[in-house]
Parts: sequence; structure tokens; C-alpha cells
Amino acid sequence: MPDPDVDILIVGAGVTGIYQLHRALEEGFTATLLEAGSGVGGTWFWNRYPGARFDSESYTYGYLFSEELFDEWEWQEHFAEQPETERYLNHVVDRFDLRRHMRFDATVTSAVWDDGSGTWAVTTDDGTTVHARYLVTATGVLSVPYTPDLPGRERFRGVQHHTGLWPAEGVDVAVKRVAVVGTSSSGVQVVPTIADEAASVQVFQRSANWCTPLNNRPITAEEQAELRAGFEQLREVLNTSVHGFHHPLNTRRSSDDTPEQRQAFFEEMWASPGFRKFTSNYIDILDNPEANAEWCDFIAGKIRAIVEDPATAEALIPKDHRYGEKRPPYVNGYFEAFNRPDVSLVDLRETPIVGLTETGIETTAGVHEVDVIVWATGFDFGTGAMLRMGIVGRDGLALTDHWADGPTTFLGIQTHGFPNLFFPGGPHAAAGNNPRYNGDQVDFVTDTLVHLRDHDERVIEVTEEAEDRWTTMVDRAAAATPFGTIGQYVGGNIPGKPKRYLLNAGGRPKLFKEIARVKDTDWAAFEAR
Ligand code: NAP
Repeated sequence: MPDPDVDILIVGAGVTGIYQLHRALEEGFTATLLEAGSGVGGTWFWNRYPGARFDSESYTYGYLFSEELFDEWEWQEHFAEQPETERYLNHVVDRFDLRRHMRFDATVTSAVWDDGSGTWAVTTDDGTTVHARYLVTATGVLSVPYTPDLPGRERFRGVQHHTGLWPAEGVDVAVKRVAVVGTSSSGVQVVPTIADEAASVQVFQRSANWCTPLNNRPITAEEQAELRAGFEQLREVLNTSVHGFHHPLNTRRSSDDTPEQRQAFFEEMWASPGFRKFTSNYIDILDNPEANAEWCDFIAGKIRAIVEDPATAEALIPKDHRYGEKRPPYVNGYFEAFNRPDVSLVDLRETPIVGLTETGIETTAGVHEVDVIVWATGFDFGTGAMLRMGIVGRDGLALTDHWADGPTTFLGIQTHGFPNLFFPGGPHAAAGNNPRYNGDQVDFVTDTLVHLRDHDERVIEVTEEAEDRWTTMVDRAAAATPFGTIGQYVGGNIPGKPKRYLLNAGGRPKLFKEIARVKDTDWAAFEAR
């Protein structure tokens, strides 16, 4: 086989792609990374909207492969804001001398496998084609913004932006009337932040979410020192934890406590940081409807206590799903914002959007005149990016056809019919702290490429049997979990998208087990040549 331009071509300079590039170079491969944006960061490059920040603790989200890196970067807050995360990722890229292997403003328009040469021909929007032995699409699950196709959208004469395509120069909202459409993880971060500047904010809510406080705060000097001293232990916990968080799992069931003890425990949860309310809550909080209802009632009580207007409070309490059936957002002053005279809620269940006019958003109740519209309406989750890259595998098989009914994968890493294509952090990713699971996948991809090199092989493709086995496990695990069973994780937010669970509900334990099995069986789940 002739030598390609590069051993490994990586697409996407987000958290996963950066790590994949580092690992590839570390193992002595040649590698190039293509990125559609003009800079490093992926999610943290595009999502510059007001209030964008982690809801995983900063030091659990950052890389763990280098203790020196961990020591030298002092996160300012337990949950860092977007600019800090973007700075961190740029720092990593420069510290490990990765930038010279990256090409920015390069959107992949096609990627075609040639079985004869055993290479991928990857073409970008400037017409350049790179031939690579291996193609790794690290394009993430939340990189294709979705804006609803509402009548008259182009007629609106004001300013409109999606949270996931927020302009780098910012948007001037000072003394402007702002509409925020969408009240999930992104929208609820925008509302209280933008309210400080805007003349007014109207929040267009179709479904309320079970929001609880993020409980963010600065990291003290003492905590910085503790983090450094505890690095090895933290790494061990994060590398083995089910969700990739450092919060311990609770072993108690709700029935182990009296009603009074449960209320006290829920208070403790409410005051706890980020995802701890999810991962360290009663172990039966998702499976036991009574425990779940009690926790929901507790949150509803908090909303009623915070929001002064009773009708607004009621509208902000979810009625259509239980806690955990959708990914719960974590908030910072969201409910409190509705007590401001200049912030109001438009309940789209009562008065649905009809379309846009030149001056605002028209609902069945009339036109809400605004100057700026923030579309916090989500993403084409899971498969969105990969299905837009013109990927064509063996025998001319288009990925769009192969996945017409939803993704089928092995380990969320490869799919049959597409040799030498890997997609860590893509469809069938895990629900949890993304960099941890995605990092596990990158490590496995790298081990696989080293294994091939050691065996003087250059082409690898997962067997149909292994893919079926993994996909069946994913579907069964999805059926058994209440987590994310409606909404984006099943493609429910995109009209016409196949309704199929897009995450690996089996989580890290299944991933670890299967990776161990692959290694024990000398990569028997794959065919290599
Ligand atoms: P999302 O969870 O998909 O929410 C989209 C929102 O837009 C929902 O409230 C949805 O209402 C609404 N919407 C969609 N189409 C609409 C329409 N035609 N009319 C009115 N409302 C409409 O998107 P997201 O908030 O951007 O969050 C996506 C993911 O990004 C999250 O799950 C999370 O994984 C990640 N994220 C993380 C953070 C963080 O770490 N802190 C922050 C932001 C985002 P319905 O619910 O009724 O569909």
C-alpha cells in the first residue's frame, strides 16, 4: 500500500480531538487535525453565549494525563465559565506543541474510503484533499445547532443568534428587549446573565425543566493546594467512576430514611454542587417513582418559595416528565431572575409560537416585540456532525444510509462497513462527565492503532457481529433506564430524526468490560489486514 499524506487525520479541535492528537503524536504517528472553527475549543469555542459554563467541576473536566499540566493550571471557579475553558484548551494545545498539526477554518465536506490503497480521502470546503490511513472524527454530540424552522424567521429585522453559534465579538444587548427561546441547559444559563444588561427578557418556554442550583464558587488557595496534593487520588476516582464524576455514589435507598430525614437529605442535596444531586442522591431516585416524586415535590416547593408570582412559579414546575427523564440543568439565579420586573415567562404550552414578524415573535396571544432573539433550542444530537460530513465507506456505502434508522456502533468507536474510521465522543457516547468517557475511547483507539502497527497491519474494521452485540446492549440498556428517555438523547427534539437512544446507557462499566474483552481476545471483534 502506498504511504498516505498522514497516518491519522483527526476532525475537531474540541476536548476529544485535542487529546486524540496528543496521544497519536506521543505514540509516534504522524497526525493532522482539521477544525471548522477558527480556533481551539470545540463546544467551548462555539458556545460563547452569556452565562456559558461547566456543570462538571472544572478540575474533573480538564485533562488528567499530565500531573504537571494539572498542577500549573489553576481553575478560578469550581465550575469555570466559557472564556476560562477556552483559555485552558489553548494552553494545553500550546504546552504540548499541538497547534502546528492543526488546520483551522477547514470544514470537511467529504470523506471517502478507498479499499485498494486502504486510505481515506478527506476533502475540506477549500477543495483541499488529505489522504489518511486512519480517520478519527472527534466532532462531538452537540456540534450542529438546531434552530426551529418557524414561518417568517428571515423577516425578523432584529438580531438573532443561536447559543451554539454565538459571535466571538459578543452581542450588544444593553438596553435591548431580548427573547430567549428554549429553557434547557443553555437557555437557563443565558436568562439570569443577560437580564443584568438587557432592558427586558422574555423567556419562551415550551417545557419546564427540573433545574436545581449549581452552587458555584471560587476555588480558594487552600482548595488549590488540596487539589494538587490529591491529584493521584482524584485521577484514580475519575478514571474508575461510573459517571466520570468525583461525587461518591450513595448506597442508601429512600426507604432507609424517615420522611423527615428525607427532607433533610434533599436540603443537603439542594445545597450541594452540580451533578452531586444526581449521582449522590438516593440510589433509587431514578427507578422508584415514589422517591422520584418526593424529590420532584421538594424541588417544586423550592421553586414556589423562590418565585414570587404564583402563576409563573407553577409554569416553571415541570408537569410532563420526572426528574432524570431529561438531562437536568444546573442553574445560577435562574428562578430568582423571574422576580425582576423586566423578566417574564411566555408559556408556549398556553400560547404556542405562530411565527416571526419583522418586530418580534408571534404567539397565539399576539406579537412579543423584541430587538434580540437568543435561540437556545439545542442541537442535532449524537449523529448530527457525522452525518453531514459526506462519509462514504467500503463498497460505496454512505454513512447516512447505514445509519438511516439511527446509529449502530461497536463501543461507540467504529461501525461495520467503514474501515479505519473511529469516532470517540460520538454517537453511543456515555451520559456523564464527557471528557472522561471520551478519553477512555481515545485511549482505546490509540491502543488499537498501536496494536495494528505492532502486527504490521494497516486496515481494521469491526465485525458485523460485534457491532450487533454492542448495539443490542445499548438498546437494552436504554430500555432499562429512565435517564434521558425523552428529548434530545432519543432524537426527540429534531423533527423527522429516528427515535433511537443515542447514548450508551450501559455507561463506563460496559465500556471498560468490553475493552478488556477486546484486548484479552487479541482484537477478535475486528478484522484486520
Ligand atoms: P436542549 O437541551 O436540546 O434544549 C433545547 C430547548 O429548546 C428546550 O427547552 C426545547 O423545548 C426548546 N425548543 C426546541 N425547539 C423549540 C421550538 N420549536 N419552540 C420552542 N422551544 C423549542 O439544548 P441545550 O439547552 O442547548 O442543551 C443541550 C445539551 O448541551 C445539554 O443536554 C447538555 O448536555 C449540554 N449543555 C451543557 C451545559 C453545561 O455543561 N453547563 C450547558 C449548556 C448545554 P422542549 O424541551 O419542549 O423540546
